[in-house]
Amino acid sequence: MENKKIFVNFKMHFSEDEVSCYLQNIRGKIKCKDVVFFPSNLYSYMFLKEHYKVGLQNIYKENVGAYTGEVSAYQASSMGIEYALIGHSERRNLFHEKNSDIAKKICVATENDVTAVLCVGETKKERLFHREKKVVKKQIKEALKNIKTGEYLILAYEPIWAIGGMESLCLKEIEAMVLYIRKIIQKYFPNVVIPILYGGSIHEENIKELLTLKEVDGFLIGSASLDFKKLLKIIEVAVPM
Ligand code: PEP
Repeated sequence: MENKKIFVNFKMHFSEDEVSCYLQNIRGKIKCKDVVFFPSNLYSYMFLKEHYKVGLQNIYKENVGAYTGEVSAYQASSMGIEYALIGHSERRNLFHEKNSDIAKKICVATENDVTAVLCVGETKKERLFHREKKVVKKQIKEALKNIKTGEYLILAYEPIWAIGGMESLCLKEIEAMVLYIRKIIQKYFPNVVIPILYGGSIHEENIKELLTLKEVDGFLIGSASLDFKKLLKIIEVAVPM
């Protein structure tokens, strides 16, 4: 079985000391190009120093300028940060990010050789009304409006209602959505293989069955990664050393 990608989103968790302790606990236990950490921007340097692959949880839609409080793909790239989550549901919902902003962010990321991890997914209500495909298609279409190459692009399918809890989609439903997303993406970039990740309540107990999904290239992990032991268990089965 091929290694899957494991993308670890710490969100706004941990102090500097806590990150230090976390890094100490995982040191020497992860040696893999397929694991990417998305720490708080403040602590990116700590992961880079230990030669982990690093991504930002968000970027701004411009490269430089008078945008107090923002961080750009241009800056990230200059530090060796290779990835950026774009359009995470928490950004869309809490910070009112629109598909038009997301489209600009994807452009600046890819122009700076930062791989954009475009997050898409439906709400519970949209799924109940069988609108998940329509919703996700619109999110992808609008986000990829200005993009010129698929070279620096990854898709992450995350049903919003499955994030941060214990409720995940069943395997068949995940596979169906990932296949659907692949079909859409192939129309944009027929000659590029774009990885598709799944995210939402993945933990050390359901990772084994999720690994059987051939269509899924990797996983985005939130809550479970806050406990280094749980993350190591997930990595142990998904990307053995
Ligand atoms: C996420 O927020 O992207 C995520 C996958 O979170 P969790 O693992 O907590 O569902």
